[in-house]
Amino acid sequence: MQPAHRHRVVVIGGGFGGLRVVKALRRSEVDVTLVDRRNFHLFQPLTYQVATGSLSPSDVTYPLRALFGSAPNVDVLLATVTGVDLQGRRVLLETGGAPGSPAELAYDTLVVATGSSYSYFGHEEWREVAGEVKSLESAIAVRSRVLSAFERAEASKDAGERVAELTFVVVGGGPTGVEIAGQIGELAQDMLRHDFSRIHPGDARILLVEMADRILPGFPSSLSVKAARSLRALGVTPTVGRRVVVIDAAGATLEASDQSHERVPARTVIWAAGVHASELAAQLGEASGAEVDHAGRVTVCADLTLPGHPEVLALGDMVRVRDRHGAVLDLPGVAPVAIQQGAYAARAIKRRLHGQSQRPFRYLSKGNLATIGRGRAVAHLGLIRLSGLPAWFIWLGVHIWYLIGYQNRLVVMLRWSASFLSHGRNQGSRIISDLDHRADAGPKG
Ligand SMILES: Cc1cc2nc3c(=O)[nH]c(=O)nc-3n(C[C@H](O)[C@H](O)[C@H](O)COP(=O)(O)OP(=O)(O)OC[C@H]3O[C@@H](n4cnc5c(N)ncnc54)[C@H](O)[C@@H]3O)c2cc1C
Repeated sequence: MQPAHRHRVVVIGGGFGGLRVVKALRRSEVDVTLVDRRNFHLFQPLTYQVATGSLSPSDVTYPLRALFGSAPNVDVLLATVTGVDLQGRRVLLETGGAPGSPAELAYDTLVVATGSSYSYFGHEEWREVAGEVKSLESAIAVRSRVLSAFERAEASKDAGERVAELTFVVVGGGPTGVEIAGQIGELAQDMLRHDFSRIHPGDARILLVEMADRILPGFPSSLSVKAARSLRALGVTPTVGRRVVVIDAAGATLEASDQSHERVPARTVIWAAGVHASELAAQLGEASGAEVDHAGRVTVCADLTLPGHPEVLALGDMVRVRDRHGAVLDLPGVAPVAIQQGAYAARAIKRRLHGQSQRPFRYLSKGNLATIGRGRAVAHLGLIRLSGLPAWFIWLGVHIWYLIGYQNRLVVMLRWSASFLSHGRNQGSRIISDLDHRADAGPKG
């Protein structure tokens, strides 16, 4: 007897992991539904460039329907997944109340790849004052904050207030924090240099605060030293061995290892420290009994399946993976991990349909990259350690290569080339779009 329907695969999340699963399953013998709460894929590694006015939102996004419109076996659904019924094999949806829209979706195989968001280490109240660049919306809000600070400094007649407006605190000295701080440095020193009459944007004070004893703790220390040197050249002060203990609308308080405190008056604080897995990870953990760690990641088996549920695979930023002996692997929260896991999951689904098993997932690390500014980057590629222009060209090539869509690749390449040649003075993305925020952003009273 023929089954009533083809094998139904539901993929939650059109980020790096989910997208790879769907790409590998298009035109195969399964029906795929990709569910995402956004109608676009976001290239997160470049959102910080949106936040600093170097790229436009459309340069780092790609509509999911445009990616899969021509694939007859792929459906795209704009909806937020609120839960998973493991026993009933259905996904629960929130579609915004459109009449007739489905409230649930049945699956034979489920792939969950809903990523993570920034965690404020238990200080949820900091979220309001310290922007982050994980989503497109938050990156655009940060762009408004950063650019508004220069505008308010120009307008202010109070010297102290001008200093506070021109002080930027970036929390977290990992690759994202380094990239944001370096980019604000470039904005201040190069891009905005001739734009104001009363202030000198180059006087901006940019603090990059890191709890560890060096920035880029995941890189060899020689590259941390070089990155710190490049940051200083852009007017950024790496402030290591300090943790942020207070953030409010008037600034941030830093605590040193000897418990001494320093108050930094600053109107713009940007958060780039620590992430927490998507809420679905904890839900899956609770429903299946799988372990969930302090960062909210659910622990999956060596073949990326949920313990006791071979029909459910989870991957990317929201999971930790065990090896074949049961030990937890230490995988970084980066796009290549999610992409490789996505490719693995698609292969596993296809093989299963033919009664074949799949070897445990293995991550092949291709190295670590961080950019600091135009012509400045560090690269750790196995035994090879590079800095400066060679590392920057590698960073450039990798990001262009992985950017989704030929049009985006071309536009970003042209923008970067023009920016490189003109020192950023041709940029047209320095837009304050959030007028409400601009009005509210200053300290009250
Ligand atoms: C600022 C920044 C810079 C980065 N730079 C780099 C870098 O240079 N190199 C690198 O390798 N990695 C970088 N990363 C990390 C990389 O972006 C992540 O590791 C990667 O995006 C993880 O992929 P994912 O598929 O697990 O999740 P994501 O890519 O985050 O995708 C998750 C998807 O799930 C959707 N979703 C979430 N919840 C729901 C729900 N309930 N219902 C429906 N849809 C949902 C989201 O809308 C999103 O589309 C950076 C991350 C950030 C934030």
